[in-house]
Amino acid sequence: MAETLAPVKPGRLIIDGKAVDAASGATFTTVNPATEEPITTVAEAGPEDVDRAVKAARIALDGAWAKMKPIDRSRVLWKLGDLVLEHADELARLETLDNGKPIFESRYVDIDMVARCFHYFSGWATKLTGDTTPVNPSLFTYTLREPVGVVGAIIPWNFPMIMVGWKTAPALAAGNTVVLKPAELTPLTAIRIGELALEAGMPPGVFNVLPGKGRIAGEALVKHPGVAKVSFTGSTEVGIHLMRTAADSLKKLTLELGGKSPNIVFADADLDAAVKGATIGIFYGKGEVCGAGSRLFVEKSIHDDFVSKLAERAKKLVPADPMDPKTRLGSLVSKPQMERVLGYVESGVKEGAQLIAGGQRQPINGKGAFVQATVLAGVNNRMRVAQEEIFGPVLSVIPFDGVDDAVTQANDVPYGLAAGVWTRDVKKAHTVARRLAAGTVWVNMYGFYDPAMPFGGVKGSGFGRDLGEACLQEYTQVKSVWMNLE
Ligand code: NAD
Repeated sequence: MAETLAPVKPGRLIIDGKAVDAASGATFTTVNPATEEPITTVAEAGPEDVDRAVKAARIALDGAWAKMKPIDRSRVLWKLGDLVLEHADELARLETLDNGKPIFESRYVDIDMVARCFHYFSGWATKLTGDTTPVNPSLFTYTLREPVGVVGAIIPWNFPMIMVGWKTAPALAAGNTVVLKPAELTPLTAIRIGELALEAGMPPGVFNVLPGKGRIAGEALVKHPGVAKVSFTGSTEVGIHLMRTAADSLKKLTLELGGKSPNIVFADADLDAAVKGATIGIFYGKGEVCGAGSRLFVEKSIHDDFVSKLAERAKKLVPADPMDPKTRLGSLVSKPQMERVLGYVESGVKEGAQLIAGGQRQPINGKGAFVQATVLAGVNNRMRVAQEEIFGPVLSVIPFDGVDDAVTQANDVPYGLAAGVWTRDVKKAHTVARRLAAGTVWVNMYGFYDPAMPFGGVKGSGFGRDLGEACLQEYTQVKSVWMNLE
């Protein structure tokens, strides 16, 4: 892993168009989870920095950003998408160093998604319109669709740069300004994209980045009276806390929270495709994926055969150096996360599940938060490994008997983020898709995302939507204007 030793410059806050140190002078060290080596130091934002950033964002909101023609805002966003592609190698390397994900994923999957977010939403800057409404011939009545104001975006560590795209691109396209707080474990790509935003021509104060701790910088952002809306992606526990905090100042809120998504394989499916889809559905991104297909429901008549194919595939997926382009399973984001995941494997076995692949830490040169691709079979939907979000490469396989049983068990969790259905029966596919309590259902595929398709949850997975036209509702508000023509 010699490449990880190449120096990365210290990260600074981006406030009002400038890279600055924290007012307190505080910094923290960000660590490569694969090597356990420090990568660099990063300025740590505190409440004073939050206040400066929000004030700058408010000035830009009514000033430079509001005065820019929508077509020019669109051009800036498009340019930012181009710059992300131009800096693909650099950004992908930073992402893999910080998060431990395979460079294959950061370079060839994540970068593309970030760029597409800016490119797709740049088009919306010129297409957000109000209506004229015929109330009375003596009146002129119409609506304006306006930005909500300063958006506080708080994001997790699992897809650090994709989350930057998901949150900032639509907010900015709709004319808002943003104060972005990346996760403390993975601040580097958010800072770099913030710098690229300035290079793309974003006026000072439009795109601010505040790396720092959730309990300090995050909390200050949620409490700040100058913030109109908080767009949060993270754990359900923190989401509930934010909702309480945001209530005091009546902020708008989007909460994209955890998941425990069912992936249902019916006996009439293309089983080879389903085995592949089930494997990618849980092991892509090391299973640190909100929409991961972490509960695999397999119809009883094909269960044993399917499970042995699955175990075979999982055993071939060996954790390796994330910087090696051939690697498909990297390091988890941190040692504590690794311990948490291994603790769940132990709890599953204790509750009676059978470990049929993986289950161990597999360090490289004695280092790293690497966990093997793990399959637990004979899981019962009531076990902790079926009910709680593990957020790691651990698949729980649960047998089922027919459509009703599949749907009942699939919906029997506190979450409702995503789901998968594998069948050749079109009627069954559509019926089951309707009956599943989930924000997204994939049929004969798993884990696909696009900026044009909304994503978000129901139940404990939160509310509001990222992406698609749907998310623009969350970043705009409607004003009714009445004009007397008499
Ligand atoms: P987390 O909730 O611990 O942290 C998320 C963000 O919130 C971080 O930036 C953190 O600093 C900040 N934060 C923490 N406490 C805060 C507080 N009191 N006030 C304000 N901000 C605070 O989540 P995580 O461990 O970084 O990420 C994993 C979680 O994110 C998982 O539960 C996963 O399912 C979820 N996730 C959901 C989606 C989705 O679209 N639904 C996508 C990715 C991740």
